[in-house]
Amino acid sequence: MIVNMKEVKIKMICKKNIFVIFIAFMLLLGVSYIFAEQSDTTSWVRIYISYPEEANYILSEGFDVCSGSAGEYVDVIVNQDELKRIADRGYAYEVLLDDIDKLGGPSNLGYSNYHNYTELTNDLQTLAQTYPDIAKLYNLGQGWAQLGNIWALRVTNGSSDNSNGSNNGNHEEDGSNDNQNKPRLLLVGVHHAREPMTCEIVYNDAKQLCSLYQTDSLVKKAVDNFEIWIVPVINVDGWINDDVENSRKMWRKNGRDNNNDGKRFTSADGVDVNRNYSYKWGYDNQGSSPNPSNESYRGPSAFSEPEPCFIRDLITSLGNFKVGVSYHSYGEYIIMPWGYINAYPEGEDYNTYWTIINGMNDTIQSYYGRKYTAGNCYVTVGYPTNGDFDDWAYGEKDAKNSLFGMTFEVNSQSQGGFYPSDTYIPQTTETHWRALKWLLQWMINKYVTDISVLYFEGISTDGGVKLTWDASSDNEKIVGFDVYRREVLDSPTGSQLTEISNYVKINDKLITGGRPYHFTDSTTSLNMHYEYRLDVITNDNDYNGGYTKVNTSSQVPISLEKVYPNPVSDNLHIGLIVSEPTNININVYDISGRRIDSVTSANLVEGHNVIDIDTGKLSNGVYSFVITSDKANLSSRFCVLK
Ligand SMILES: [Zn+2]
Repeated sequence: MIVNMKEVKIKMICKKNIFVIFIAFMLLLGVSYIFAEQSDTTSWVRIYISYPEEANYILSEGFDVCSGSAGEYVDVIVNQDELKRIADRGYAYEVLLDDIDKLGGPSNLGYSNYHNYTELTNDLQTLAQTYPDIAKLYNLGQGWAQLGNIWALRVTNGSSDNSNGSNNGNHEEDGSNDNQNKPRLLLVGVHHAREPMTCEIVYNDAKQLCSLYQTDSLVKKAVDNFEIWIVPVINVDGWINDDVENSRKMWRKNGRDNNNDGKRFTSADGVDVNRNYSYKWGYDNQGSSPNPSNESYRGPSAFSEPEPCFIRDLITSLGNFKVGVSYHSYGEYIIMPWGYINAYPEGEDYNTYWTIINGMNDTIQSYYGRKYTAGNCYVTVGYPTNGDFDDWAYGEKDAKNSLFGMTFEVNSQSQGGFYPSDTYIPQTTETHWRALKWLLQWMINKYVTDISVLYFEGISTDGGVKLTWDASSDNEKIVGFDVYRREVLDSPTGSQLTEISNYVKINDKLITGGRPYHFTDSTTSLNMHYEYRLDVITNDNDYNGGYTKVNTSSQVPISLEKVYPNPVSDNLHIGLIVSEPTNININVYDISGRRIDSVTSANLVEGHNVIDIDTGKLSNGVYSFVITSDKANLSSRFCVLK
């Protein structure tokens, strides 16, 4: 039963009650027939929701949730009893496909170009043998069912071992890590077995990195400077069991025999590999399930499963991973933390995440024609997750450094959801290869280049927005700067829907001059929120020098840039930006509010200033300073530790 989608939408907006009656009527006619005829079939169903929290009710029903769109719908795979429950609950729904077995059935073969285990193993071994100088294949181990090896390909230049490029030992034991401490990147596919496109994306990345190394300067620079760890299939057992080409069982979890009946991959078996990471594991029962038969079963304990433990061990033993990209399907989403609550990383990390996501997303749009929806779980798929890779990658800061973990949900429901025909493989893999290249360029800019942008600040004045920055390079290769501006919404909640216009270059000719650098944007309007981007132009490349947001609705005569070091022992530096020469006084207070230092006065120059406070005589503890001028009053805390 396919309910016309336009009709669904219109009726939902106009009068939901009538629509429910309409659905009930349709049920009498249609679904009872399906029950009688197809009692064993599973259906692909879109349940429409009227408000975001309604997704939680659907999660609590225990259905197999496969995707969703925040506040709009949740897609589920259900048997006919469950479908009846959906109807009985009065949900507005649409049957996307009445029988999942019809997906690419015999009349519509279209899966032979997906890798199976043997093909993937051969292709990875071939890469390692063809490019022994840069590629090396590792076997991370096996899952419970031991159906195959979990392969990881390391792509980097500088491996000094003399093996033939293939290795069956554990990476920690073979000593071939060469004491490298290059920045590392992890690409991982198929946490969920029924998401075979993600293997194709990650494998294709490996192939491109190897084959383009000699001819593509960006690829060469990335492979020379980074270690790129590529795990096309982390859930090998589940993936082999699902077998896209021949069976397509809609299997999601791994091969744990939950009920110990000696059989694997029965309906009560398996753990959701992407709910078994330790950070906020089992935080609630919406983001994961304690019920072994549920498709998001989180396992008996955090890291109870071999698959996430291999990822954990790779990252914690090697260290210095900067970014980890986990590919899933379906829905066209870029998902960042947090998954366990509706919140975002804070401070500079928040900006960095959006820099990465927007850059990759712009690249996706330019090739694929449309952007993915980006944000945390709540604003993308519309439901929480806990114990997933992203939260652990970013949130776990004791066992390892925090890295920018993120999830790409690839392909759309109309492309086939979990099982797009293999005709989609070239387009999907190329889309994500291009996005990955953007990420590699960003990583080069951030972690490799010797160009250092010390700050980039803007301030609203009567004459426009005054931008000030300082940048240096070891070999004086900076030629000049370009400044771009776009209009944004002031969005403290962190939705990605901040951009109103695209970036436009605002300087006519390249900005040069002495340090620190200045540029005044005199084309601004009042009561606007602008985001400026600084591009550093060198004699061999352009680098992203960072972003700054300026609100022209109010003038901020003094802006606190940074306080460092913090904690401090002897000398505290306070970075301040002012739009015009300003005299200030600084008082220091202890935690009880007692003033403990005589007034320090300073004459600030237009632009960037650093004021030093002698903290040598202060004992350990928390203090605050208060800056006053005739126009402003601001304060900040700092900590003395000796
Ligand atoms: Zn997934």
